[in-house]
Amino acid sequence: MNIDGLHLLLTYQCNFKCDHCFVWGGPDQYGTMTLGTIREILKQAQDMGTVEWIYFEGGEPFLYYAMLQRGVEIAARAGFKVGIVSNAYWATETEDALACLEPLKGRVQDLSISSDAYHWNQADDRRTRVATEAAQDLGIPLGVISVAPPEATHVACSHGQIAPGESAVVFRGRAAQTLTARADKHPWEQFTECPFEDLREPGRVHLDPLGYVHICQGITLGNLLQRPLSELFDSYDPANHPVTGPLLDGGPAELLRRYDLPCHGNYCDACHLCDTARRALRSRFPGVLGPDQMYGE
Ligand code: SF4
Repeated sequence: MNIDGLHLLLTYQCNFKCDHCFVWGGPDQYGTMTLGTIREILKQAQDMGTVEWIYFEGGEPFLYYAMLQRGVEIAARAGFKVGIVSNAYWATETEDALACLEPLKGRVQDLSISSDAYHWNQADDRRTRVATEAAQDLGIPLGVISVAPPEATHVACSHGQIAPGESAVVFRGRAAQTLTARADKHPWEQFTECPFEDLREPGRVHLDPLGYVHICQGITLGNLLQRPLSELFDSYDPANHPVTGPLLDGGPAELLRRYDLPCHGNYCDACHLCDTARRALRSRFPGVLGPDQMYGE
């Protein structure tokens, strides 16, 4: 596996509780990465020899600013390119935004700001403008990412990491519970592939505060606090993994067939069916389909 990006979920907590959130971020969520875990991840990343990018995201990573700042500093010193994904709640005024971003200057190569109607009223996205201006002043590259409402069928989905600009909503995480009533649905048999993640040769994975390594949010390859990343990736056998194996064979529809799940019906997209099937399988594969945070439990 040629992993070039590790995305650290610094915390499951967030000041928002957005309907479209892949990781069920929210004020009541539990789990924040310690500095010790960040150091351990960066050491393991260096041992791998393929990792170029370290992203800090969440939840909302600026909620744990000291850990974010120190983590960015250690990652940059170790020679990694560094990215951050944030909702820019901290950009109340230019002076305040500059105070938050100044310590990150010269160390961050990509600051992605989430700005859409799920976070802020789109007519009042002042914080995005303030953060953008402050980042420009400091020479920090910034992109704005935005997820369209579920009714917007003309907007394309992002493959893998959400790209700058507007993307369609994907019905995984909280969206699979909260937004499906607003979108068209299609028979389950149609969802014969995973359209959004490269499950065979992933270029990046998400690492959560508990140490779980996610190939897609809620599907784990193991725990880096129990087995180093290099070993987890070396031993990953996509075709024989209990969840990615069926997904590669025939998408989420194959999960229903392989495990004889009674979830036949209509779904908004492949992720909606995948999420439903995985929930039904959690008790059978507790070490793979977790942790509870990723399922809003
Ligand atoms: S189909 Fe499943 S594995 Fe693929 S992106 Fe959607 S939720 Fe993830």
